Amino acid sequence: MPFELLNNNRWIVGYDMRNQSAVRSLFEMSYPGRGTVIYPECDVPDTGRQWAPEAAFLADEMPELPEIAEPDVVRHFVNLSTLNMSVDSHFYPLGSCTMKYNPKRHERLARLAQASGSHPYQPEDQIQGLLKIFFELQQMLAEISGLPAVSLHPAAGAQGELAALLTASAWFRHRGEQRTRVLFPASAHGTNPASAALAGFECVQLKAGTSGFVDLHELSQQVDERTAVFMITNPNTLGLFERDIARIADILHAAGGLVYIDGANMNAILGKARPGDFGGDMMHYNVHKTFTGPHGAGGPGAGPIAVRDFLGDFLPSPVVRFDSGTNRYVLRSPAHSIGQVRTFFGNVGILLRGYFYIRTLGAKGLREASENAVLNANYLLSKVADVLEIPHGRRCMHEFVASARQIKNRQGVTAMDIAKRLLDYGYHAPTVYFPLVVEEAMMMEPTETESLQTLEAFANAIRLICSEPAELVKGAPHSTPVCRPDEVAAARKPVLCWSAQQQD
Ligand SMILES: *Cc1c(COP(=O)(O)O)cnc(C)c1O
Repeated sequence: MPFELLNNNRWIVGYDMRNQSAVRSLFEMSYPGRGTVIYPECDVPDTGRQWAPEAAFLADEMPELPEIAEPDVVRHFVNLSTLNMSVDSHFYPLGSCTMKYNPKRHERLARLAQASGSHPYQPEDQIQGLLKIFFELQQMLAEISGLPAVSLHPAAGAQGELAALLTASAWFRHRGEQRTRVLFPASAHGTNPASAALAGFECVQLKAGTSGFVDLHELSQQVDERTAVFMITNPNTLGLFERDIARIADILHAAGGLVYIDGANMNAILGKARPGDFGGDMMHYNVHKTFTGPHGAGGPGAGPIAVRDFLGDFLPSPVVRFDSGTNRYVLRSPAHSIGQVRTFFGNVGILLRGYFYIRTLGAKGLREASENAVLNANYLLSKVADVLEIPHGRRCMHEFVASARQIKNRQGVTAMDIAKRLLDYGYHAPTVYFPLVVEEAMMMEPTETESLQTLEAFANAIRLICSEPAELVKGAPHSTPVCRPDEVAAARKPVLCWSAQQQD
């Protein structure tokens, strides 16, 4: 077992010397007189005169800076970077986030000077290559979704939701319709109601049934002439494909409303099922999830939206068009565009990675990626199903939601405890406590890029943890420099600077 009980009753897993230079702040490592910069001797006479205005100098006190040598600075930051879990360092089954491997080839291509060196104010005739790539990407995303009009502009899935809802809103206004409500199921991602509220709609949440699927009866009762859009994730956030999606779309369309497909789970259905074919009118892609833009830690994303042709004129601006008269790719604003939702074109670097990924895999490769993502998730499900409850069935799409309810009732170990303990075993935790409709939820999404061995090792870790003493699991993690920070306080009151007072 990778731990031992010390006599002070604390469980310890290993002891990592590397962490020591990372967990001490530069100020704690400071040593008087030690330095990194050695200034050359002054080679002009000292006139004793001040060469800058008085205001440019700090009054009496010198800034409080650590005195520290260059190798120690380098070690500090390199070691600090290793405390983070990433997809390049650890298995990362974070449900709903599709943390699949980001191919290094595409990183290299996206960094080519022709792309990374271009400037958003460059004239169109100097970036014809880039525009051609994005024109093709628009076409590929239209083909994959079955929705013909595409805007690459939004910066992430959530912004895609907002942009699409504003697009729908503009379309309804154009038709002289007053529709005020956006509906969504109880299992919806939090961004869905947030986007609807931002776009000025009233949010209506459907009651959660026990089946995990949208209740058609409840939906029919809620849909009326006030309904603008029903937002639905398919496969849904329980990892189940909404089998009644076509009937759901019929209910909305019969009442004059639109269906928005949250495309965060596209990794389950690439080349298998198209939102446009199963009734969706609009959707977003999360390029950083489905098409391997590196993400996590709030890095850039891309949330292109695809819509039916009648909504195309209202899409955000700009979109890429091909002008056959001049034989040139051009940036255009759709006729009744809602305008821009961010600066410039979009997150070009992430869009490029998505384009290269799609081109590398091709239609067959994308379909295989989804098949393997679903296979991996089902394999993992089968390996943990006897230690964790799987409330919604024995089969899943590319992810599944397990519940730690029974083990919590039995020995007080929660989903959070298991998630924390997984860190000691060298795994990023699954998503916990989402979706809200499952008690003690643990949402696991292994993705297609993980090997059988990795899945088995991870399942074994889960199984081991479920058999460990509750006291051990509840005190985890034991191997990280910080055990359980107050996450709310850390987010609300981040302490980003250090001072002598704080140390006391
Ligand atoms: C990730 C996710 C979103 C939000 O997408 P971002 O790209 O993070 O803004 C919306 N819905 C679901 C189901 C998601 O998993």
